[in-house]
Amino acid sequence: MLDGVTDLVAHGDPPRYFRFPRLAGLGLPHLTTTRHFAGVTAPPERTGPFRDVGRAALRELGLAGDRLAWVRQVHGAAVARAPAGGGFAGVADALVTAERGVPLAIVTADCLAITLWDADAGALGVVHAGWRGTVRAVARAAVQALAALGARPARLEVAIGPSIGPCCYEVDAPVTEALDAAHGTAAARWLRPAAGGRAMLDLWAANETLLLEAGVDPARIENPRLCTACCPDLLYSYRKGNHGRLVTVAALP
Ligand SMILES: [Zn+2]
Repeated sequence: MLDGVTDLVAHGDPPRYFRFPRLAGLGLPHLTTTRHFAGVTAPPERTGPFRDVGRAALRELGLAGDRLAWVRQVHGAAVARAPAGGGFAGVADALVTAERGVPLAIVTADCLAITLWDADAGALGVVHAGWRGTVRAVARAAVQALAALGARPARLEVAIGPSIGPCCYEVDAPVTEALDAAHGTAAARWLRPAAGGRAMLDLWAANETLLLEAGVDPARIENPRLCTACCPDLLYSYRKGNHGRLVTVAALP
């Protein structure tokens, strides 16, 4: 039914959330919700950071929700450090911590939710990256922020959550021009010509490239390549007119 689901561990029927096999096997508490997880239906600016859903998600993991940390996401490249006790960390699109048991939350609907973890260093980050965040290289900024917390980029375990794929992500000139201006010839590899002078953008390839440039080991990147727009029964896709959001949470064990 769904390409990529086999590369995720689905919980529930229909699945209410996913976990990444590699991160789970290494012992990182984390999950990404689907549309069957209760309650995430309004845009984040109207309801804040989905604290209730984040807390419910954490209960699934056996973690207390009262230390949940979140940011106000603005498609930028700022990285916030989670307060030691959790809570609002500011306006940013990446959130990092070195504190055990402080769950980090990111919400998405087509954009990439990227989880990065160095178990040895005890450093964890989550990233929200759409095309603007890719232009601004927020994934690279997150790797650098984690390095400042003691992580070694080559040791980071990275997972890319369900997000819009190159099969469905048609963009126009302002997007392609911004990518070209920011990333030069590399951007051409992320774009495939489409009808009417438009292009199909591969945000997965783009962010994987940014991560590799920042020193991440390609063998440590999990990407089930599960497209939100291809899976409307399971996921939320902004481009498909859904008003819900997927929530990704992770906490240092
Ligand atoms: Zn698709």
